[in-house]
Amino acid sequence: ERGSSHLLLYRTRGVEMEGQSEVIDRLRRSFRSGVTVPESFRLAQLEALFSLIKENETQILQALHQDLAKPKFEAVLSEIDMVTNELCFAINSLRTWMQPEYVGKNLATKLDDCFVRREPLGVVLIIGAWNYPLQLILLPLAGAIAAGNCAVVKPSEISQATEKLLAELIPKYLSQECFAVVCGGAEETKTLLEHRFDHIFYTGSQAVARSILQAAAVHLTPVTLELGGKCPCLIYGRLDIKAAARRLAWAKFFNVGQSCVAPDYVLCTPQTRDALIPAIREALENFYTPQPRQCPDMGRIVTDKHWTRLTEMLKRSAGTVAIGGESNKEEKYIEPTVLVDVKETDALMEEEIFGPILPILTIQTLEEGIDFINRREKPLALYVFSDEPQVVTKVLENTSSGGFCSNDGIVHMTLPGLPFGGVGASGTGSYHGRWGFETFSHRRACMLRGWGLERVNVLRYPPYQESNLGW
Ligand code: NAD
Repeated sequence: ERGSSHLLLYRTRGVEMEGQSEVIDRLRRSFRSGVTVPESFRLAQLEALFSLIKENETQILQALHQDLAKPKFEAVLSEIDMVTNELCFAINSLRTWMQPEYVGKNLATKLDDCFVRREPLGVVLIIGAWNYPLQLILLPLAGAIAAGNCAVVKPSEISQATEKLLAELIPKYLSQECFAVVCGGAEETKTLLEHRFDHIFYTGSQAVARSILQAAAVHLTPVTLELGGKCPCLIYGRLDIKAAARRLAWAKFFNVGQSCVAPDYVLCTPQTRDALIPAIREALENFYTPQPRQCPDMGRIVTDKHWTRLTEMLKRSAGTVAIGGESNKEEKYIEPTVLVDVKETDALMEEEIFGPILPILTIQTLEEGIDFINRREKPLALYVFSDEPQVVTKVLENTSSGGFCSNDGIVHMTLPGLPFGGVGASGTGSYHGRWGFETFSHRRACMLRGWGLERVNVLRYPPYQESNLGW
């Protein structure tokens, strides 16, 4: 299967080797042939994807560095390891996942085989975002392969080097009859979305998600939406403030704050804020030295447009800069920045920040913090920092979010046993581990009956006897 004809669309650069319709038709023919269904095929493709990563690690790291100046450590942790761990988990679990799930029976079905069968959906479309450009394509692709689908993947055009590398490597390693890469931006994606897919898996902004849903509605295509939003971090009560500052700063400034699950803003009391600021300052100096701009562990903002968006947001904010605040346009650099005296109506609180700027808002009570969170859209992740278990429980039980993590940030998404996804405006559906397999599977309800117990069936045939109801 590996290394046959070139099946890659590269419209943006004018090299269109095959039209979108031809590619999708081809994948659909392959799907109908049943080639993707056997466990052996799925395993071979998952293993090929593993080899793709392992054999091209240097090139992958270079591409991620070119796109985002991603430090090697962050790239390995959040892109390479995330994908290879997912692949190992899927390879080891596939047989179990594929087993029919037998369900409870009643007297009337006692002789039947009643089970749920996981079946592939068909040809699925995976659209990725630029902030973790490798992970956001290959992790859902692992789920799609494990579930026995064909897939078209559409990496983000913004992270250009990774897009190009994926377009080169995927056809080299995976079956070209079953998997294809389409490159390009909004226009190419819109054209792609005119085609019928059996599932659309979209990672990106809430604004674009609306047009994805509209396009999906035309064909009644089911969708998974992995979106963003403003993830709160509520700090309350007794706690180790230095450890909290380190964990918060790491989660916020990892990938220069360009993480969908980065803490977007902090809610704490004025007393906690006064202790937190020097602790964050110390943590940042230890992480990135007093000159973070020169530090190789500090990446860069992805594009000029995002740099301008962030610096404008900072200018429009009424808050006071307590830490950082420097920026450099040529380098697309923004210093890790913390603001205090930020109000709910501030520019920084309008939309997801998605950059290295952390506003701190003050609350007087835990209830006020919970109310603040509940007044806004349901976030993708919610963080609570406290040594007091009743504080953590109270926040957990009185709020809603895609994921929840106490006393840390981001790390909950590294565990394949936990479903990753949003709720409400932060997304629909989930993936990672078995959840990805489930997302790309249809759960077919099966009842295989024989001819036994016909005397029991007589009870439901006309002429009806009401005395037989509820039998
Ligand atoms: P984006 O919405 O601009 O782009 C995402 C994808 O959509 C790209 O592949 C792009 O080519 C395509 N696209 C752009 N405009 C389009 C249009 N008009 N029609 C069809 N397709 C279009 O998002 P982004 O800036 O790449 O990503 C940032 C957002 O993604 C943030 O909100 C972040 O929180 C979110 N995100 C979520 C997750 C998650 O797993 N939940 C992960 C990463 C990022």
